[in-house]
Amino acid sequence: MSKPLTDQEKRKQISVRGLAGVENVADLKTNFNRHLHFTLVKDRNVATKRDYYFALAHTVRDHLVGRWIRTQQHYYEKDPKRVYYLSLEFYMGRTLQNTMVNLALENACDEAIYQVKTYLQIFQDGGTGTCFLDSMATLGLAAYGYGIRYEFGIFNQKIVNGWQAEEADDWLRYGNPWEKARPEYMRPVHFYGRVEHHPDGVKWVDTQVVLALPYDTPVPGYRNNIVNTMRLWSAKAPCEFHLKDFNVGGYIQAVLDKNLAENISRVLYPNDNFFEGKELRLKQEYFVVAATLQDIIRRFKASKFGSTEVVLAIKFCPSLERWPIDLFQNLLPRHLEIIYEINRRHLERITALYPGDYDRLRRMSLIEECGQKKINMAHLCIVGSHAVNGVAQIHSDIIKDTVFKDFYEVDPQKFQNKTNGITPRRWLVMCNPGLAEVIAEVKIGEDYIRDLSQLKNLLKFVDDDALIRDIAKVKQENKLKFAVHLEEQYKVKINPNSMFDVQVKRIHEYKRQLLNCLHIITLYNRIKKEPNKAWTPRTIMIGGKAAPGYHTAKMIIKLITAIGEVVNNDSVVGDRLKVIYLENYRVTLAEKVIPASDLSEQISTAGTEASGTGNMKFMLNGALTIGTMDGANVEMAEEAGEENLFIFGMRVKDVEALDQKGYDAMEYYNRIPELKQVMDQISGGFFSPGEPDLFKDIVKMLMHHDRFKVFADYEDYIKCQEKVSALYKNTKEWTKMVIHNIAGCGKFSSDRTIAQYAREIWGMEPSLEKIAAPDDPR
Ligand SMILES: *Cc1c(COP(=O)(O)O)cnc(C)c1O
Repeated sequence: MSKPLTDQEKRKQISVRGLAGVENVADLKTNFNRHLHFTLVKDRNVATKRDYYFALAHTVRDHLVGRWIRTQQHYYEKDPKRVYYLSLEFYMGRTLQNTMVNLALENACDEAIYQVKTYLQIFQDGGTGTCFLDSMATLGLAAYGYGIRYEFGIFNQKIVNGWQAEEADDWLRYGNPWEKARPEYMRPVHFYGRVEHHPDGVKWVDTQVVLALPYDTPVPGYRNNIVNTMRLWSAKAPCEFHLKDFNVGGYIQAVLDKNLAENISRVLYPNDNFFEGKELRLKQEYFVVAATLQDIIRRFKASKFGSTEVVLAIKFCPSLERWPIDLFQNLLPRHLEIIYEINRRHLERITALYPGDYDRLRRMSLIEECGQKKINMAHLCIVGSHAVNGVAQIHSDIIKDTVFKDFYEVDPQKFQNKTNGITPRRWLVMCNPGLAEVIAEVKIGEDYIRDLSQLKNLLKFVDDDALIRDIAKVKQENKLKFAVHLEEQYKVKINPNSMFDVQVKRIHEYKRQLLNCLHIITLYNRIKKEPNKAWTPRTIMIGGKAAPGYHTAKMIIKLITAIGEVVNNDSVVGDRLKVIYLENYRVTLAEKVIPASDLSEQISTAGTEASGTGNMKFMLNGALTIGTMDGANVEMAEEAGEENLFIFGMRVKDVEALDQKGYDAMEYYNRIPELKQVMDQISGGFFSPGEPDLFKDIVKMLMHHDRFKVFADYEDYIKCQEKVSALYKNTKEWTKMVIHNIAGCGKFSSDRTIAQYAREIWGMEPSLEKIAAPDDPR
């Protein structure tokens, strides 16, 4: 038997087939050694793994530089329309591997690294928002990502005695080889102060200034020689900060106070889908916008023809942000005046359209008057924007007839849909080279990496035994590898022949990890009741971070780990049911667990998940979905055929009908004996021996004020899980269904999403053309 290929060997097979510039291995090796020596100032006796990583990163980065400069020169010469994508959540991804894949360098690096007898480990993580940047570069758009260079990104999660503990993520401690500081483009951002009205104009005076210092990171397209820029701003106190009030001893204090100004880029707020009205957060938002707009105007003025058209794409969460007027008045007094003026004109227009309809005026105002006065940022955004879009069809439909109904009535043409997507480079080629190779090699060539709609060609081979066998084999290899990883990292043993049933995403009531918990306990009770039945073995893995201030989410984590304690240590159950909490779920862990998953849990209450992207990652990696008709699940079912997903539960209209009628959780509890048993176990301390009250808040919520109606979907979910278990026993039929799913993934490429934004909103034409490689191809 031949030795199985490593992941790098598999990706190498893809890249050698006509795509790679053949890179000079000896040259790479020389440069690697040069960086180890001159950049890191180390020799082989003292170099650590991290030094080797940095030496390789610098070596690979050198290959980007020529293309990066070339691309920016090309934009300067051609002066195309620019697109600026602003997000508060840009975050460095696994730049090294991504660069190697996109530049087709992995092959050569692999050789070079092998020859110098080191091995590499990836030290960096992160990556949300980067799908769009990858697609914009791949589609040849002159795009810039703008965000904040947080000193501390999303916290690291530790599980201690079953509870979440947070640790700061000091990712810049060892430096970042991918970024380049650009102090020459530093911009001032003003806060506080007061407004003076003079006959000749308005002045915003006595402000406090914070400097925005940009750091640039390259964003390479997929094998097209294009390298765009992600520019992240870091807050820096000006040298004269507070020094004007110094007296005796004041100088020291003033220098110490510089930290305060620099707090703006200190830390990413870890809330997900939750608005917390903290001044520092508003400062962060204004900081990135003010610095970015100045940068855009500078570039516009310096442009060759001065004709540059500009598009701003801003991501915001509908109806989430409502800033108290007092806070805004203090921080940005002049902007508040301008918002009042925008509101005056906006309401004047609405009054003309609907004379006397005061209730409508109140609903549509940018200023909410009830209780504490607040600015509704979503309303401001709609009024100021040329287009507004939801991120899945169902989401776009819902916002049109609920939160933004009034706005839709006056400007229907503004409202659009752009269903989210994921980049197939990171979420297939990088994380699952075995599957990428089977798809490319066996049947359809490798153009699908740039044009994911070609995956539909797999349908011709859905009954092909060789393909079925190869797809099942790759999955089994990925599962084994993940099992080894878990055992090495966390000392937990799992059965690689069991179904890997996975729910990984932020912990949130609306995502309904609790519904999953109810299923686990039900399964456990059933196995205990009939221990000799042929149960389909499952390893149920749940992972995700809870916002540090979200009590219920943290209790949910504790409940999951407590259930695991009981289930995993029950000898009657054995390895037919295991419950694993995946600690510190993040992009690097997603890249490992998703390719190893059989079943993807996408079980939010219908109408609550805007789109989801995790659902798409699983589908592309050959997992089947158990899910509700929510977010992008609806379109996944449309693309793959509803019979190829396990769809259950209430539709949006059922949820609405239940709201009309009044949701009564106790009715389900009293009617469904298995549900009653499960709830009685949780509330009776079965999973918290010695501490029966531990989960009382969760129990009370589920029974009496559950906004997400977990019990209403319980019965249908359990039945649907029975179908999943039954099908899993038939590997061939299961795998055929997987092929239908992979073949239906074309729509979920972020290339499609970005192409639609470009054509339908930005007025730009995407292109898969390459630009010329730099003369010196190093
Ligand atoms: C894709 C991804 C998400 C989003 O998952 P959903 O299931 O869509 O909520 C969250 N976290 C990480 C690390 C991801 O990679």
